[in-house]
Amino acid sequence: MKQSVLLLYTGGTIGMKTNDLTGGLAPFNFKQIEEEVPELKKFNINIDTYTFDPLIDSSNVKPSLWLEIANIIKQNYNKYDGFVVLHGTDTMAYSASALSFMLPNLTKPIIFTGSQIPIGVLRTDGKENLISSIEIASQKKNGVAVVPEVCIYFQNHLLRANRTTKFSAEHFNAFKSENYHPLAKAGIKIEYSTNNILPMPENTNEELQVISSMCEDVVVIDIFPGISQSILSSILNIPNVKGFIMRTFGSGNAPTDSWFIEELEKALKRGVAILNVTQCPSGSVNMELYDTGKAMSKIGIISGHDITTEAAITKMMFLLGQHLTNKQLHDKLSQSLRGEITI
Ligand code: ASP
Repeated sequence: MKQSVLLLYTGGTIGMKTNDLTGGLAPFNFKQIEEEVPELKKFNINIDTYTFDPLIDSSNVKPSLWLEIANIIKQNYNKYDGFVVLHGTDTMAYSASALSFMLPNLTKPIIFTGSQIPIGVLRTDGKENLISSIEIASQKKNGVAVVPEVCIYFQNHLLRANRTTKFSAEHFNAFKSENYHPLAKAGIKIEYSTNNILPMPENTNEELQVISSMCEDVVVIDIFPGISQSILSSILNIPNVKGFIMRTFGSGNAPTDSWFIEELEKALKRGVAILNVTQCPSGSVNMELYDTGKAMSKIGIISGHDITTEAAITKMMFLLGQHLTNKQLHDKLSQSLRGEITI
């Protein structure tokens, strides 16, 4: 039987072509995708499209769009072997990370892709990204999906969504996964690194679960040399915030001034969660290495290990949405839920 893939088009650069009348770039009708990408006809795959209305620049993405994507996938889950989500590159790593947490028992590939140059422009990188993403989304071995997880495919690399960061605003090679191996590399053949891919969830016959509540009461703080007590205190005292992502130096270090620890401790006592994530694109937090880290670990700051900022924010939103006890929240933030951290 022919494989089937559903293409969800949310917006972004990839779906644009030059408007012959104005000379400007405008979204094109993805229903006519085979006219723009005639190579798709060569696939022996059934490709259907779902176009979002309105199409958006991904800078406007909100958690409500993540839920919409998740629900459309759920409604069509049994009809397709895999899903490709066309999305602007700017916030793709956030959306794809969020989906990885919202779909706990995923058994089929969801491949996010986009492009730096619109698909209707001669030098586009979009065609290769799209064609390979469709191939990966349809790929099965012994009747089961080869990549049953949420991924980003860009410039010959298939990366785990919640390990990926947008790295370049101009190069075709726009995404990196510094702390985890690519799940596949596309050359003459697409070579899958099977050992790095998440295993199938246990009950593959269960209905796809969508965990819909995401809590938006989160803040990201970047620590910098010279950060003052009043600045830190004002950020930590923003009303209603339930989770802070604190981006620290190197292996999770921050100033040793006593006021620094005291401010964090006051916030923790109010019941907020603070996750320590490194500002370094590569490597991990280790709060046992230096005195500064030890002091934070002692008061209950949680190590983000080698998590990306995008995954940290969406994981925090996801877990805060589950109304867990402080202990459960602490435990889940410290665990790898979908392969987002190395522990
Ligand atoms: N601003 C665009 C977006 O993220 C950029 C892109 O698609 O690459 O929607």
